[in-house]
Amino acid sequence: MFCNIVNGGEPERVLYQDDLVTAFWDSHPSAITHILIISNRHIESLNELQPGDISLCGHLFTVAKKMAYAENIADYGYQLMINTGYDAGQTVFHLHMHLRNMAPKKN
Ligand code: 5GP
Repeated sequence: MFCNIVNGGEPERVLYQDDLVTAFWDSHPSAITHILIISNRHIESLNELQPGDISLCGHLFTVAKKMAYAENIADYGYQLMINTGYDAGQTVFHLHMHLRNMAPKKN
């Protein structure tokens, strides 16, 4: 499902894309700002990360920060979350980080 987005499936929602990751608006947001940052490569969950994925992980965080600044929430506070497995509530089995603000947008 998220591979479809990497390959151009939801262009209206995509905020950022590079060789490693894609950031886009969540289709069913649970916060005023709710962005998903995913690996372009299909990785089912954090459990499938390999030792060679360290730079990818760092990049996910860097792009999350970039999106937080772009959406003007960086200085107010935001949450990053990765659900892993059914018991954690993971519903899409393609590695993704949720970026959500915790208060109404101020701008
Ligand atoms: P999870 O529960 O796996 O941690 O999070 C999956 C997230 O993906 C949910 O917040 C859900 O709203 C979002 N989502 C599911 N399918 C789609 C989709 O096709 N497009 C977009 N943009 N978001 C989706």
